[in-house]
Amino acid sequence: MVTRLAEIVRGARLVNFGSLMLEHGIRLKWIRHRDELRKLSVAKQRRLQTSTAARISKMKEKAVIVDTHLFIKTAEGFWPGLPFEVVRALKPTHVVLVEASAEEVLARRASDSGRYRDEVTKEGLAGELAFARSFLPIISTITGAPSLIVENREGGSETAARTISRMLRDSER
Ligand code: AMP
Ligand code: MG
Repeated sequence: MVTRLAEIVRGARLVNFGSLMLEHGIRLKWIRHRDELRKLSVAKQRRLQTSTAARISKMKEKAVIVDTHLFIKTAEGFWPGLPFEVVRALKPTHVVLVEASAEEVLARRASDSGRYRDEVTKEGLAGELAFARSFLPIISTITGAPSLIVENREGGSETAARTISRMLRDSER
């Protein structure tokens, strides 16, 4: 979905927050793959998160689309993906939560064999989706940016990408 979005939005650069954190974590020899990131101490994750936010904040493109997480399930508890300092560095103009139903998320994860996922039930996932939503008004309040929830149904990634790109286009009028 985000890959498609970045193709549609003219002049946009797509960055995956986790990929940049991973690069830095590998350079420091803390980890080897992305599913080890959330297992690091929160102190170490925070160092990678802060360096990544600083790196993204220096990007000069007309539009930067950041694919990230509103929270991370760490061994120390739920930890915000966009805490105050990070969201202030990124200065987002728009915040979009891309949602799928718990069933769809479970089905996608089951077919995504290249990752080391933690076990999670449908109820647990539904709780996580609600928890993600609860971050939106906080981020909007800190940044003044509107937040939008977009459904990304099975087979509906084109529609979701078009909904977001139309919103961005209209925001320039
Ligand atoms: P992804 O492949 O997009 O699911 O992201 C991979 C990993 O990157 C996540 O499981 C997190 O450990 C990490 N990550 C992504 N965004 C953030 C963020 N804003 N803050 C901290 N960790 C993040
Ligand atoms: Mg992702």
